[in-house]
Amino acid sequence: SPTIVWLRRDLRLHDQAAFRAAAQSGNPVIPVYVLDDETPKHRRMGAASRWWLHHSLARLDADLRALGSRLVLRRGKSDAVLAAIRRETGARVVHALHHYEPWWRLAERAVAKTFDLRRHHGNFLLPPGTVTTGSGQPYKIYTPFWRASLQQLPPPPPQPAPTRLAAPEFWPQSDTLDDWNLLPTAPDWAGGFRETWTPGEAGAAARLETFAGRAARYDAQRNLPACPGTSMLSPHLHFGEISPATVWHAVAEAGGSVDVFLSELGWRDYAQNLILQCPDYGVRNGREAFDALPWRDAPEELAAWQQGRTGYPIVDAGMRQLWHTGWMHNRVRMIAASFLIKHLLIDWRAGEQWFWDTLVDADYGANATNWQWVAGSGLDANMFVRIMAPLSQSAKFDAAAYIREWVPELRHLDDEAIHDPARPPRGYPPKIIAHTEARARALAAHAAMKQMA
Ligand code: FAD
Repeated sequence: SPTIVWLRRDLRLHDQAAFRAAAQSGNPVIPVYVLDDETPKHRRMGAASRWWLHHSLARLDADLRALGSRLVLRRGKSDAVLAAIRRETGARVVHALHHYEPWWRLAERAVAKTFDLRRHHGNFLLPPGTVTTGSGQPYKIYTPFWRASLQQLPPPPPQPAPTRLAAPEFWPQSDTLDDWNLLPTAPDWAGGFRETWTPGEAGAAARLETFAGRAARYDAQRNLPACPGTSMLSPHLHFGEISPATVWHAVAEAGGSVDVFLSELGWRDYAQNLILQCPDYGVRNGREAFDALPWRDAPEELAAWQQGRTGYPIVDAGMRQLWHTGWMHNRVRMIAASFLIKHLLIDWRAGEQWFWDTLVDADYGANATNWQWVAGSGLDANMFVRIMAPLSQSAKFDAAAYIREWVPELRHLDDEAIHDPARPPRGYPPKIIAHTEARARALAAHAAMKQMA
């Protein structure tokens, strides 16, 4: 009987152990993607991710067709959809890669009730849950986690894509991508996405190749938002269009000092280990004391942040880059997140939600881990009382050209004035709150929280 390959965020053929195992079984293979908005409930994929998904699935289908196969698209609850395909085709075995989001673990348990579910590793450098302390406990802090991970790395070399996938006698019915309405309708919000990205395995490989050529400069340039110093692989990695092992080996072979880059891949693994330990990390403070922090309810200020109208050029540039491209430079993500949490004293979960909807790399583990890191509420976190000064960060990391690109109202200002325009030019808002006032308010809120604890 045919074998199902159940795809989620592993949309590639190279170094994809589920495809490899299914191909090796010698049975006909039915690759299936289920658009499951029911199991994740309010964690259904955000709008920017849906744009990406549409294009990534289209590419994967084309790549599968070149191997004599195709992609079957169905919508509904994963286990119910796969059970229907079983009734239609007699398939009994499902190959899939392990996923660690709580809703995917639920779905895996449900699928395993009716199928012989064979799960494989390969979306992370090391299988989450396997890097443990001497006493077998999972790490809560990144640095020892990464130190222990390095003992088991490098990852195995990447495996080639299957050269052929046997087709079943008949193909089960499939939706079309257009049925799913994944692309935004008017206004054409995704114009900037199209200019910035090529979703799919070939697009991921091209990004990696470009980056490998300059990986040795990563350490020096990664904090400069005006510089194309980072890999921009995050959405490709999130959707599994490229395996982290492939990235690791390509970058390591490129030579030079790449340890810092590899350790960033380590943060990606670390985040998965955290959501495995704390499945509700996206909504629950890692440190309970933060439950008592008196957050402000300020919908207009939240909207100003979302729309890049805070009067802080570096924050506004970042939020507009996010809106336009679905991505924001990491240094600016930290500044913008810190601004929301500390300057506006708005709950980090509101920011996490906005990123969830607007990032093309929106990732439950990475997003929660980083928001909680900035907030100070995480298991491994920056201290809340260390309050980033956005204006000096902007100058320190040379963001003038970056601001000019994303905030046209400030384009005429020189490199010095642009970080903190003395008098905001016409059309650009005054600062939503002064830095010193915001700082004092945040520290007072934190002190109040401490008193409650
Ligand atoms: P590079 O610097 O080239 O790094 C290579 C890869 O390592 C990235 O593609 C990513 O997969 C991984 N990585 C790098 N930094 C981190 C990190 N701090 N945490 C986890 N993985 C990392 N990253 C996401 O992938 N999804 C998110 O939803 C997400 N939300 C974030 C929210 C906030 C508030 C902050 C401060 C950071 C967030 N990040 C998130 C982490 C980081 O900003 C992005 O991974 C990075 O900017 C992606 O760009 P790049 O591919 O050029 O990264």
